[in-house]
Amino acid sequence: MESLLIAEQQLSTEQREIVGMVRTFVEKEIMPVQHDLEHDNTYPDEIVRQMKELGLFGLAIPEEFGGGGVNFKTYALCIEEICRGWMSIAGVINTHFITAYMIGEFGTDEQKQRFLPKMATGEYHMAYSMSEPGAGSDVQAIRTKARRDGDDYVINGEKMWVTNGERSTHVAVLVKTDPEADPPHKGMSTFIAAKGDGLTVSKPIDKLGYKGVETTALSFEDYRVPATDLLGGVEGVGFKHMMSGIEVGRINVAARGVGVARRAFEESIRYAQERQSMGKPIAQHQAIQFHLANMATKIEAAHLLTMAAAEKKDRGERADLEAGMAKLFASETCYECATDALRVFGGYGFSKEYPVEQLYRDAPLLMIGEGTSEIQRIVIARRLLEEYAIK
Ligand SMILES: Cc1cc2nc3c(=O)[nH]c(=O)nc-3n(C[C@H](O)[C@H](O)[C@H](O)COP(=O)(O)OP(=O)(O)OC[C@H]3O[C@@H](n4cnc5c(N)ncnc54)[C@H](O)[C@@H]3O)c2cc1C
Repeated sequence: MESLLIAEQQLSTEQREIVGMVRTFVEKEIMPVQHDLEHDNTYPDEIVRQMKELGLFGLAIPEEFGGGGVNFKTYALCIEEICRGWMSIAGVINTHFITAYMIGEFGTDEQKQRFLPKMATGEYHMAYSMSEPGAGSDVQAIRTKARRDGDDYVINGEKMWVTNGERSTHVAVLVKTDPEADPPHKGMSTFIAAKGDGLTVSKPIDKLGYKGVETTALSFEDYRVPATDLLGGVEGVGFKHMMSGIEVGRINVAARGVGVARRAFEESIRYAQERQSMGKPIAQHQAIQFHLANMATKIEAAHLLTMAAAEKKDRGERADLEAGMAKLFASETCYECATDALRVFGGYGFSKEYPVEQLYRDAPLLMIGEGTSEIQRIVIARRLLEEYAIK
């Protein structure tokens, strides 16, 4: 679509080549196999191997640590391409991307040197864990605790909904180091916890969509983590670290929404020209044209909002408002487009033979993960009231 071309024109030749490389990879290596992998709920081992080889695990990690050093806009364009092929593949690298960002922004020099080069190659694979069985939106209500014991901390508690919970080598985990702190966020810290004794991974959760990539619970039972793995080396700032990670995660989810919605649109406009009804292609019926027009218009708007948020972040400016708007609009758009695609496909949209039913199962996650649509509206309204406060 035109604006996508404009967005790409504003990239350097090298960045444009990266997006093109990802597009080719998706079309050659992901699209031909993803239907079977998705329906069998099979982890895409071979695709992940190739992603490491292509440098996709380190795409946004600074070059000085062996990564690709791409900016947020280029990364978002790459995620759109990947999700046009299969959203679960973005899930494999999303928690890794967020954690790399947090280590790059808030880690000590020693932590950056120790983690980022191995993350860039994919030797280290990071999960990101805030949610618990009793606390999702209300992050400050988490109950997992860490207490200092000599050179270590000892973590106890239960985590829920950990994407890459099984295959990751490490988990960026939010805990309370001072459970009595008021407000609670001042007593929260983030650890980069390596898998090991005292950390038990549950069986993968059986999900509606987002198949292939696993999401698990985690149980910490007297799990010891060295104090050197406390992110930034300081207690009490973990909530800030995680929220900062979530902000770039929201741009990433917005990009996913655009990618999945684009696929829904592309499938629909092709099918509408092939399927005949009442003596002509259904694309000639105005009702179907309206669906196509609505889809394309909303996708364009979602894409532009996503690019605006990424560009603001690239300029080093605060972008929570823009990221919230992009995430809210793109995820709702994605769900609407997946539903519209079902309508265009009629009965065949309900068949597992066609890709539309999968898009329809994947889309709702985007309205939940990285903060629900309700939480985005809270974030947006809070910022607006700050901006427009009557003095
Ligand atoms: C497949 C999948 C993968 C995930 N991966 C990860 C991961 O890797 N790491 C991780 O940490 N988490 C992950 N999550 C968790 C996800 O971030 C949470 O599900 C999400 O934040 C919502 O939390 P909850 O499910 O506890 O819902 P709740 O917080 O219980 O919310 C339930 C409903 O109440 C609404 N609500 C809650 N509070 C308010 C309020 N103040 N005002 C208005 N409405 C409100 C919500 O919007 C929602 O509609 C994943 C979730 C899923 C489904």
